[in-house]
Amino acid sequence: MTFDYDLISIGGGSGGIATLNRAGMYGAKCLLIERDPVLGGTCVNRGCVPKKAMWYAAGVSHALQDAGDYGFPEASTQFDWGEFVEKREFYIKNINKAYEHYLGKNTVDFTHGHAKLVGPNTVSIDGQREVTAERIILAPGGSPVMPDVPGIEHCINSDGFFELKEQPESALVVGAGYIAVELAGLLQALGTPTTLAIRHDSFLRGFDDMLSGQLMQAMENDGVDVQKRFTTASIEKRDDGLYATSESGETIGPYSSVIMAIGRKPATDALGLESVGIATDERGYIPVDEWQTTSVPSIYALGDVTGQAELTPVAIAAGRRLSDRIFNGQTGRKMDYNTIATVVFSHPPIGTVGLTEAEAKEQYGDEVKVYNTQFTPMYAAFTEHKTKTAMKLIVTGQDERIVGCHMIGRDSDEMLQGFAVAIRMGATKSDFDDTVAIHPTSGEELVTLR
Ligand SMILES: Cc1cc2nc3c(=O)[nH]c(=O)nc-3n(C[C@H](O)[C@H](O)[C@H](O)COP(=O)(O)OP(=O)(O)OC[C@H]3O[C@@H](n4cnc5c(N)ncnc54)[C@H](O)[C@@H]3O)c2cc1C
Repeated sequence: MTFDYDLISIGGGSGGIATLNRAGMYGAKCLLIERDPVLGGTCVNRGCVPKKAMWYAAGVSHALQDAGDYGFPEASTQFDWGEFVEKREFYIKNINKAYEHYLGKNTVDFTHGHAKLVGPNTVSIDGQREVTAERIILAPGGSPVMPDVPGIEHCINSDGFFELKEQPESALVVGAGYIAVELAGLLQALGTPTTLAIRHDSFLRGFDDMLSGQLMQAMENDGVDVQKRFTTASIEKRDDGLYATSESGETIGPYSSVIMAIGRKPATDALGLESVGIATDERGYIPVDEWQTTSVPSIYALGDVTGQAELTPVAIAAGRRLSDRIFNGQTGRKMDYNTIATVVFSHPPIGTVGLTEAEAKEQYGDEVKVYNTQFTPMYAAFTEHKTKTAMKLIVTGQDERIVGCHMIGRDSDEMLQGFAVAIRMGATKSDFDDTVAIHPTSGEELVTLR
């Protein structure tokens, strides 16, 4: 049987683009179908990239607040949101263009439209034309969940946040995941008095407890009003702004913006899964085996839609490995979902890789040993604003193999990557101890832990 293409991707975000570029480099005939007007998906257009740009701006604001302590009197901390957002969008447009350029360079065909499966090898585009391929990858990503509460029409989500052309005078962020803490932290730093409403007593559940505890303290010190045990039951618009009422009847407000960041859901609706007999799991994700194959052998899924570590580099790595295997004979090449390092771009940032202390104890019991440190980084020695750094190494067994590394504090975002390589290679505590420190840095603390 002959097909129009070797490989089609439904979705032109991190996963789809990476898979097809790699397959194209190997000479495969590929078609990418993206329903957004621009390429890049969530990460580039309404995720990592605009978020990181805002995080940098928030960091500049913090630095300006510290400027006096470093001998620069009277630095202005006035932020021009509109001007910055324009610059940010210009930067993103250039990335969109670069993506299109690279697809062309790798001879990947690209079309706009809504793609839907109509057979194991056939995709319909906007219901108007059909294309066939020997293999199809599903990389449609996901979208923010909005809670079903009265007044929800007055709220925005992370997509809406990145569309704001004006700075909110005040904001309520609802949610306890990494997106919620990141948005709350950067808004506060940029001068918007911000409340973060969380359902329990802590946020970032699933992360090591040390990280969430330290971050909570740092955010409260920065002025974020953290409302604990507040489950939002309704939103009301009054003359002076938006008010949120909790399930227990407590009302907070007014806010000029309410941002819901309570989680994301996979974009499986209108994909045509039923037409080929692919069933989603109980959480709505597409189940795949270790090779990213769905229950239909010619159809693969990767990235956020599979619910396996929803991060851009994960979608990219899964896709590139798939193309290496299928189109370059690299037998056995597949994504390893263990020991994935990640950063939360909070203020201060968090870097984390491997097991949390609780997970390690559950897995290894008494064999687990934990090394901790907390200190004031040198930068803060000069400032009144004394945000601390905390680090934790979790080791197991006689040889003290490192199974978890968690840090929060200035530069944790950049510090982690190298340590993650070592930990993936099976580094032990003595490997860390034998590594000569770089001085004066915060990173040296990790190789001198007692
Ligand atoms: C606010 C926010 C911040 C984030 N920050 C980070 C971060 O700092 N670091 C990090 O690693 N990750 C971050 N992420 C997560 C990251 O963005 C995702 O993990 C990543 O984008 C997943 O890639 P993907 O290819 O699976 O999906 P996406 O990038 O979402 O791409 C899917 C694409 O498919 C298209 N599509 C969907 N259905 C169809 C269809 N039927 N036909 C045609 N096209 C379709 C969509 O329009 C979309 O463009 C963040 C996410 C958010 C929301």
